[in-house]
Amino acid sequence: MLQYLKTKEEREAFIDKYDNFLFDCDGVLWEGDRMFDGVRESMKLLREKGKHVCFVTNNSTKSRKSYLKKFEDFGIEAKIEEIFTSAFATATYLKNVLKFPTDKKVYIIGMKGIKEELALEGIQSCGAEEDSGLFDNDPVPDDKDVGAVVVGLDTQVNYKKYSKGFAYLTRNPGCYFIVTNEDSTFPQHGSFYPGAGAIAAPLITALDRRPDAVLGKPALNMLEAIFAEYKIDPSKTVMIGDRLNTDIEFGLNGGIDTLCVLTGVTTKDELLSEENKVKSTYYIDGFGDFEWKEAFSLYDKKGNSTVSSSNLGDLLRGLGQNPTQAEVRELIKETAKSKNIPENQGKFKFLQFDIDFGTFLSILTRPDGFKPAGSSQEFIQGFQVFDKEGDGYISAGELRYVLTNLGEKLTDEEVNELLKEVEVGKDGRINYVDFVTVVLSN
Ligand SMILES: [Mg+2]
Repeated sequence: MLQYLKTKEEREAFIDKYDNFLFDCDGVLWEGDRMFDGVRESMKLLREKGKHVCFVTNNSTKSRKSYLKKFEDFGIEAKIEEIFTSAFATATYLKNVLKFPTDKKVYIIGMKGIKEELALEGIQSCGAEEDSGLFDNDPVPDDKDVGAVVVGLDTQVNYKKYSKGFAYLTRNPGCYFIVTNEDSTFPQHGSFYPGAGAIAAPLITALDRRPDAVLGKPALNMLEAIFAEYKIDPSKTVMIGDRLNTDIEFGLNGGIDTLCVLTGVTTKDELLSEENKVKSTYYIDGFGDFEWKEAFSLYDKKGNSTVSSSNLGDLLRGLGQNPTQAEVRELIKETAKSKNIPENQGKFKFLQFDIDFGTFLSILTRPDGFKPAGSSQEFIQGFQVFDKEGDGYISAGELRYVLTNLGEKLTDEEVNELLKEVEVGKDGRINYVDFVTVVLSN
């Protein structure tokens, strides 16, 4: 029975019920370089409660070491042994299950995450980046040392790599064909792109056979590795993911409970539809939902679950975003257009209009919405270009030019407001370091 974790109490009861929380990463914790709201707080809460946390991702482009760096950059606590990627699963499968000989090597159609993980298991490899950018159609020489071809997500995939992979698999007896994971798509830049399954498909067609092994979710090898590593009780374990045919199916295959998070691939309609046979135990809209709903309701002056477009900028800033005035105007304009709000010829380009929570969510989660504001150093460097004398002063005109034309693109009125805050010298010049300090402190 699919349960929607709506209230704070329901979420707390959920956390108390389990000891081990297995997290998918893309679409759950972050999308590309943007961490989802509420993730850091949720992870911190789990640690404080002494819960086991594991990260289980089908993304093979990064090694566990690179993932660790990503967690550190986001300020999320993680240890390398808590991270399970399909590249790592592939490496341990070759070593422990296939007992891959040390004098043989693996040909990689994929990225450096696979190469790094294979090297850590003492497995030799070739291909990957060294064959990127090649378009020639020369004959592929024999290489009898290739004992396996591993295919993962490869943004530099080309005909040469496919030809080599195909040649080794057809010419070398016993050569293993291994696919890191078969995700059909890969979410990034707020959209979907071909996934590792799509990269492997041409080779499957050419060979007219299935791979000898597919390692990522929903296959059980990663779950078995996690159970072995942590000796955990499946009944006290929950898998949290955004994708039904990988994450949720993975949990179902392993007999553990699942939580579907709607910040990634799966939509609410898909999850709840009659046709969907992969039902999770629970679902939530996202980790930051509560904070967002709460902030939204503060601006819901009419009490009809909407906010006025005139409050949009304040609301976004209240939730930690740093849109410029120009950006807020642009967002309002786009939203008005999408809702067919007519333009007004008067002072305000658009009449004030109401924004519902769903629309607000799509504005809030736009690409780069949570990017940090420029640091004072960046602003200072921008002004330094005009500081010919190098004495820390530029003219008010130059300062206005930078502010209205570059980056922030303020209006003249906004610049006038800012200039009220600083002293302009008799010669009309401004100490721009002071200016940046004053402006940013406000
Ligand atoms: Mg995902």
